[in-house]
Amino acid sequence: MAVIGLTGNIGSGKTTVCHMLAKRGCLCLNADVLGHSVSEPGGEAYQQLRNSFGAEYFSEDGRLLRPRMAELVFNNQCELARLNGIIHPAVRRVLCQKIAAAQAEQPDRVVVVEAALLVEADYLPLLDQLWLVWADDDVRLARVMARDKLSQEQALARMNNQMAQAEKAKYARYIVHNNRGRKELADELQNVWQQFIAENSFQEE
Ligand code: ATP
Repeated sequence: MAVIGLTGNIGSGKTTVCHMLAKRGCLCLNADVLGHSVSEPGGEAYQQLRNSFGAEYFSEDGRLLRPRMAELVFNNQCELARLNGIIHPAVRRVLCQKIAAAQAEQPDRVVVVEAALLVEADYLPLLDQLWLVWADDDVRLARVMARDKLSQEQALARMNNQMAQAEKAKYARYIVHNNRGRKELADELQNVWQQFIAENSFQEE
């Protein structure tokens, strides 16, 4: 079984590609969703978060106060590093468990791990290969403004906060180009998938 990491910068189309790969039978795991669940009560990172940040970042019923935490880490690299230093190792541990369980249950099923930060947050050792979804800056800007109802300035602030796509491309086995419409993306993904299948000698189901 192969474990593919699917990354790309904001608005590139990772989630859209993941949905297409799920339709091909891949098991898709989203590291951002796992990041959320590990910080819920009983989650892998919960107690460590409480110990590190204190009860004032949790509601009376024990839930992480996400807006308060976001306020703390916004534009504060030290606090952001403290938060990420707890969340990412916990997500990596949970991912390892989920990948092992998938491997035991369906050894031939391809697993896809989706996240914007696979390179930056040290997820590469968990993966067999990385795919990068690439869309040019102007395309991503338009998509993010439309999807998140942001001004140009707000969208650019989010985009400029990320590692450059060209830098991520150095780690990628395949680049999925997504500058055009959904039909073109489906065709592009079909090409990449065929190469992947051929290189890994899988039998397509
Ligand atoms: P983020 O990192 O912000 O979560 P993402 O990389 O997962 O973003 P998506 O959410 O898949 O990106 O796509 C961003 C927006 O662009 C969505 O509204 C999606 O529907 C749209 N989109 C993505 N690809 C295409 C495409 N080929 N044609 C038209 N719209 C697209």
